[in-house]
Amino acid sequence: MRLEFNGQPVSDLLTTAEIALQPRFRDVEQIARENQRRVLDAFHLQRVSAADLQGSTGYGLDDMGRDKLERVYASVFGAEAALVRPQIVSGTHALRLGLFGVLRPGMKIVFATGQPYDTLLGVVGIRKTAGSLAEWGVQHLVVPLLPSGAVDVESVLAALDDRTAMVFFQRSRGYADRPALPVQTLARYFQEIRESNPDIVIAVDNCYGEFVERVEPCAVGADLAMGSLIKNPGAGWMTTGGYVVGRAALVEAAAAQLTAPGVAGDYGPTHDFLRPLFQSLFLAPHTVSQAVKGSLLAAYVLEQAGLSVSPRWNSERADLILAVTFGNPDDLLRFCRAVQSTAPIDAYVRPEAGAMPGYEDPVIMAAGTFVQGGSLELSADAPLRPPFIGYLQGGLTYEHVYLAVEQIMLALQTASG
Ligand SMILES: *Cc1c(COP(=O)(O)O)cnc(C)c1O
Repeated sequence: MRLEFNGQPVSDLLTTAEIALQPRFRDVEQIARENQRRVLDAFHLQRVSAADLQGSTGYGLDDMGRDKLERVYASVFGAEAALVRPQIVSGTHALRLGLFGVLRPGMKIVFATGQPYDTLLGVVGIRKTAGSLAEWGVQHLVVPLLPSGAVDVESVLAALDDRTAMVFFQRSRGYADRPALPVQTLARYFQEIRESNPDIVIAVDNCYGEFVERVEPCAVGADLAMGSLIKNPGAGWMTTGGYVVGRAALVEAAAAQLTAPGVAGDYGPTHDFLRPLFQSLFLAPHTVSQAVKGSLLAAYVLEQAGLSVSPRWNSERADLILAVTFGNPDDLLRFCRAVQSTAPIDAYVRPEAGAMPGYEDPVIMAAGTFVQGGSLELSADAPLRPPFIGYLQGGLTYEHVYLAVEQIMLALQTASG
């Protein structure tokens, strides 16, 4: 069968898209090259050797490979220190370590980029949850983004008082209808806050942002940044893990939350993880570039199909997420099912919306991934709520995303005609 969309064969649409996207693809490749160089330089500076890939057991004391890995991460992320562990089970876990490391009863955290990611609502106690920061007597204040998507710096500055110990930024859009914030934009906000509040900890939820741009938040003034290894820096290769990077004392405090005060980061066996930890970081700049190229292709083609997408194909990228507004649940479900049908794993499964721990609305997830929940692998998900926005992210190879976009177009075409 010949695929068509609005009279145009889908193959022509894809060819036109790739021609139009050539300059964008060149940009993405150049960013990947610069990030690859930074990763490689860090390996060389630390003299990473075959012996560093071995791993440790038990307490994991004197694990020199792990210590080197953490120095490599610190230098790649422009930070003083890093905690990179397979024992960190998710991005939320890494973020929780950073938050509980710094915040004490009576202190306040200000969210500068609006409501944080869904799973953090429980951590902070914005949604009543046992064990949250609120239960420990830590207060929070959420400053919504301006309608333009910019940070409301005036309101953030006005919200800072003697008790405010942390200002928190989310780089990626997450599941919110807001743009991702480029690191250079974040840098300006950091500077404005820093000028009047030298001691406040500036923390960044770095999930989905790593290696999309040329610099990372700690290189431009953030004190702490956290992320997941089953997203960008794990290159689709890590099966678990998370990281905290930042000022040495803050990373130490986060490590004390992971293990125990007094032993902090000295404990922590790496088992068989050191080789994939090093190897995935080495691969990450390229793999992230594949996902970004795929996302640009999807943005271009879906826009041609008459859908509203964000960010558009010609705007700067600061994360991996493409938001597509469908306006109705049926097309959203078609989109998710098309992505599922091109997955390497579980392609025959028909995803349905269901409850997810940590999320408020029913969520539909299309993810036939090698690693459960691994979202640098091509995946689509959406909380089932108006205006029915589907989020497409990841793709370990550009070719895979290409095939998925082709399939999405077929599914939408069948529905419309
Ligand atoms: C994925 C993500 C997180 C953390 O999610 P986990 O599923 O716990 O890894 C936090 N913030 C943002 C913006 C994310 O994309």
